[in-house]
Amino acid sequence: MNDQGIDSNKPMATAYGCYTVHENASLLDRTTFRVPARAATLIDVHEFDAVPGLLEEAATQNREVLILGGGSNVLFTRDWPGVVLALRTRGLDVIEQHVPGTPGDAALVRAAAGEVWDDFVHWTLAHGLRGLENLALIPGSVGATPIQNIGAYGVEVGEFVDAVSAYDRTTNSIVRLDRAACAFAYRDSLFKHESGRYLITAVDFLLPRQRELRLDYDGVREELAAMGVGVADARAVAHAISRVRTRKLPDPVTTGNAGSFFKNPIVSADLAAALKSEYARMPTWPLADGLAKLSAAWLIEACGLKGFREGDAGVSDQHALVLINYGSASGAQIWALARHIQQTVLTRFGVALEPEPLIV
Ligand SMILES: Cc1cc2nc3c(=O)[nH]c(=O)nc-3n(C[C@H](O)[C@H](O)[C@H](O)COP(=O)(O)OP(=O)(O)OC[C@H]3O[C@@H](n4cnc5c(N)ncnc54)[C@H](O)[C@@H]3O)c2cc1C
Repeated sequence: MNDQGIDSNKPMATAYGCYTVHENASLLDRTTFRVPARAATLIDVHEFDAVPGLLEEAATQNREVLILGGGSNVLFTRDWPGVVLALRTRGLDVIEQHVPGTPGDAALVRAAAGEVWDDFVHWTLAHGLRGLENLALIPGSVGATPIQNIGAYGVEVGEFVDAVSAYDRTTNSIVRLDRAACAFAYRDSLFKHESGRYLITAVDFLLPRQRELRLDYDGVREELAAMGVGVADARAVAHAISRVRTRKLPDPVTTGNAGSFFKNPIVSADLAAALKSEYARMPTWPLADGLAKLSAAWLIEACGLKGFREGDAGVSDQHALVLINYGSASGAQIWALARHIQQTVLTRFGVALEPEPLIV
């Protein structure tokens, strides 16, 4: 029995039609960091209908509930003494083929929370829809994409979200939140601020059939050229970006990681200007309202921490933003490394780095 009251010698699973309960379950294969942690109860939910009852039961037993998708943005630093609900709900639908009033021609599509994001992206492209091609190969589930408003290669998912359907745990009812209500911002949304309140059940996307492709980002044009693609279509862009990502980022199947561990910090324009006058090569991007964005990767690298390693917890030597489990690091060790990075960057530059993943 460990200090969370969990006995690691007693795993069991019981199937109940639309959900499966695993008592005392290992979470090692449930997160891309692949750190050891256990849940007192892990429930794979295949149909949403089971959710209200399961939440009610957990509340009656005074057990805390954590929602898990693909586990690609979570770091467990300890066991979870309550219930982990893993959403495996499936379903892809074209709700409206031609949406009146949209510029050009667009379709409204709905994806259940448990759909695999990259599969969904390719499904939209196969239906002649554009918009999500730059977000190809991001790991995880559809239901998690609004949480941090996933972004890559110059596109954020919030641009295409029409509405999010969610189970509101404060009112025990399904709500439909339109794009404005979701308050999307850089790696941020309403769901981050009201953490644990909403269990996202499905996301509606409004996707155009015609849209200018965004190619001016991080080697996309060069990759298309290397592929011998002259005039790109959205599927070629998704393919090119998948190839670049595969080369640049460690594959979580073989190397535990959660992609970028820190957000790019947003600071006052004055601080950015002061730093820039001291460090001429430091990248800065001006924002509205007297703010500026800095590069977290540059700050970490400037502190000499790219490739830094303590035991099996390390910073990738390819990508300063990616923390890696080289084998048997614990979540606590990875979190200790993250805090060391935060402290070093704060001391040197006066800039606070905020983690992207949920730290449990
Ligand atoms: C190699 C790699 C590359 C990555 N690249 C990118 C990138 O380019 N851009 C980017 O933005 N992210 C990136 N990520 C991070 C991650 O893939 C995304 O944030 C993804 O959306 C997380 O999905 P998930 O299903 O794995 O969520 P999880 O890790 O399971 O959960 C993440 C958070 O969402 C909550 N959550 C999950 N599902 C639901 C739901 N249905 N309802 C309510 N809350 C929910 C969880 O409680 C948790 O707080 C990368 C990760 C890896 C490993």
